[in-house]
Amino acid sequence: MGLFSKAGKTFEEAKQSYMSSKGATYVCRSCEERLTEEYDYCPHCGEDSVEKVE
Ligand SMILES: [Zn+2]
Repeated sequence: MGLFSKAGKTFEEAKQSYMSSKGATYVCRSCEERLTEEYDYCPHCGEDSVEKVE
């Protein structure tokens, strides 16, 4: 239970920060979604193509 609820919460938080973000500093090269945190794997498409944006 802990694993799923934790992952779900993290995903919701990431989604909300993405929705309200003006300061997205990472972007996925694969799906071009903007992210506010660095991920090893894109939470949108699952590719390991998240890069920092200046
Ligand atoms: Zn992606």
